[in-house]
Amino acid sequence: MNITKTITETVERLVIEKTICDKCGIEIMREDWYRHDVTFMAEWGNHYPEGGWGEGLKIEHLCKECVHNAFMILRENGFTVKEYEWNW
Ligand SMILES: [Zn+2]
Repeated sequence: MNITKTITETVERLVIEKTICDKCGIEIMREDWYRHDVTFMAEWGNHYPEGGWGEGLKIEHLCKECVHNAFMILRENGFTVKEYEWNW
């Protein structure tokens, strides 16, 4: 027979406390129902069923203003930047 007792454990977890814009340094506000996803990346490489390798470029943390500025810099330099709206 096992004799049991209840113990209290302290568990440490790493959580995101806040996100800072990599360009200007302001805090990117996160609210429950506000979406702020920045996916600005490119990858090159080889993908096989058993594995792969490659390299890439990416920008992960930008505030809305810095994202807008980055896309305007690209547009001013001849890149096609498409604007769109989403609704679901
Ligand atoms: Zn910023």
